[in-house]
Amino acid sequence: MLEVKGLTGGYGRIEVLHGVDAHISAGEIVTLIGANGAGKTTLMRIISGVQPLIAGKITFEGADFTALAPHKRVAAGIIQVPEGRQVFRPMSVEDNLRLGAYRRKRTPDADLERVYAMFPILKDKRHLAAGGLSGGQQQMLAIGRAIMGNPKLLLLDEPSMGLAPIIVAQIFDVIRQLKAMGITIFLVEQNASAALAISDRAYVLETGRVALSGPAREIAGNADVRKAYLGI
Ligand code: ATP
Repeated sequence: MLEVKGLTGGYGRIEVLHGVDAHISAGEIVTLIGANGAGKTTLMRIISGVQPLIAGKITFEGADFTALAPHKRVAAGIIQVPEGRQVFRPMSVEDNLRLGAYRRKRTPDADLERVYAMFPILKDKRHLAAGGLSGGQQQMLAIGRAIMGNPKLLLLDEPSMGLAPIIVAQIFDVIRQLKAMGITIFLVEQNASAALAISDRAYVLETGRVALSGPAREIAGNADVRKAYLGI
């Protein structure tokens, strides 16, 4: 579904990614793990098109997306849930969700109901300002807003960051449900063991290079990964 080849990118003269090769097949959950500053967010931002690349190629469903504008990538089904949720705090929960479907002429109410079925708490609070939600609820709202855009490939950047363990478990459960709905997932997570447990495959990024890749179970069993990222 998605392939990146020789991806190089960074900020100004600072190169952060040094020729990353990766692919994601339809229906998979693929996790990207790596230390702080390894370049995980940078890779996601380049895939969604909000950050330009220096070199390399991005192919999505067989088409060259390398130079495609971000809104066209969204229209094609690549939708990112950014780090830190980025909900529109003064707006109501429901208006945040409707914004996720801004490309469509009308918000399909069926999609709104699909999101509310996944996250009943959002229905209860649909008329309240998003800024008043808890961190976990804001994460659910950010994911719900992305679902309203009808994603084929969902890019989830640190969805469990800063959340209490019980909420983290809920978020991972939601990611499993998204996969069951047929959405392909590319996940960046600090919580590597939980992420690997729900993933099909994984990539380990070290200082802008893919150090390791393979089936999630294999990566979770790798001695170096266990020491560096799983705290075992
Ligand atoms: P984290 O887990 O901390 O989010 P990450 O693996 O996602 O880490 P990136 O956010 O992609 O890493 O950052 C990679 C490198 O790029 C870091 O050294 C970071 O300091 C640098 N960087 C990130 N954003 C910018 C920016 N806007 N301008 C300059 N350098 C940046």
